[in-house]
Amino acid sequence: MDIQDLVLPSVAALVPYEPGKPIEEVQRELGVEPIKLASNENPLGPSPRAVAALRAALDDLNRYPDGASFNLIRRLGELHGVTANHIFVACGSVEVLNLIAYLFIRPGFNAVSSEHAFAIYQLVTAASGGEFRAAPMQAYAFDLDAIADLIDEHTRVVFLANPNNPTGTIYRRQAWERFLARVPDHVVIVADEAYFEFVRDADYPNALNYLSAQPKLIVLRTFSKIYGLAGLRVGYAVADPKFVRLLHNVRQPFNVNLLAQAAVAAALDDHEHVRRTLEVNREGMEFIERELRRLKVRFVPSHANFIMADVGDGRKTFDALLQEGVIVRPLGAYALPRHVRVSIGLPEENQRFIDALTRILGRAA
Ligand code: PMP
Repeated sequence: MDIQDLVLPSVAALVPYEPGKPIEEVQRELGVEPIKLASNENPLGPSPRAVAALRAALDDLNRYPDGASFNLIRRLGELHGVTANHIFVACGSVEVLNLIAYLFIRPGFNAVSSEHAFAIYQLVTAASGGEFRAAPMQAYAFDLDAIADLIDEHTRVVFLANPNNPTGTIYRRQAWERFLARVPDHVVIVADEAYFEFVRDADYPNALNYLSAQPKLIVLRTFSKIYGLAGLRVGYAVADPKFVRLLHNVRQPFNVNLLAQAAVAAALDDHEHVRRTLEVNREGMEFIERELRRLKVRFVPSHANFIMADVGDGRKTFDALLQEGVIVRPLGAYALPRHVRVSIGLPEENQRFIDALTRILGRAA
């Protein structure tokens, strides 16, 4: 018997998540120092306060971390005006997505989301043997009515990203409240707000405000984006304490390591780093939008720290940009073969991306 036959067919058929191409890999291949605008990371680097806390924690590495992440969940509870029992910390918000699928999805059940949604939703659903249902989008944004239409008695989870990656689009308060009124009681609602801090839209609904009325709602946030700590792998969920207890039942005992716990608690105090990050992102977004318009490249207006551009042939443009030492993200895996996704970088990185794209488009013309 083949080893493949010992697992669920949906697991054997999975294609692993493909992350952004690492800087070192491109450097090895091209011999030039590339810039990476491929993983929506913070271009300013980690919070300096977090780095200092990390250094101070190094001498304790012989110890196991606090398995309950006591200080961190208390801090996050204070930050969001909920008890520590409402907070669940994890190895990135993707760990929470994994655990949600593990808890609620089984063969015979389904999860509902959208086409062009963050790829992990489909992966974790298939890994649990569930059916993944994707509603069509409206103008590259989640259509919550179409998503609600796909829910049936076998649905256990709805995955929503606000803003969504890779489209950068949001859904607004009215659509969200209409959606909540329609979701049946047997469905867990995941509001993935990895890019929450970047949004400035007045009608953006903060999902945390709906928790008290929705015991099956779980809100995801992360230290990977605004706080610049993607390498540490810390995300968290806010949900009803009963929901949080279930997550504890299935997590590994030390899912957030000792360095990570020390560093992210310090990052929460670094308001200056957050402020500068937002400023660099806003200015960079304005610059890239202006330059794309000048180049007559269509793009989807974004609420996050990246932008999706219609370059005609995403794979070819990705390869050509790579030759120029600029790493972006092709979106074939998202069924968006015409697009690339570009993270907003430092001013000089944004300029380098635009210069390279200008040369590539000039050659193609
Ligand atoms: N959700 C969305 C929408 C994302 O774009 C990402 C990062 N690519 C994540 C979740 C996962 O973030 P992390 O695991 O680093 O917290």
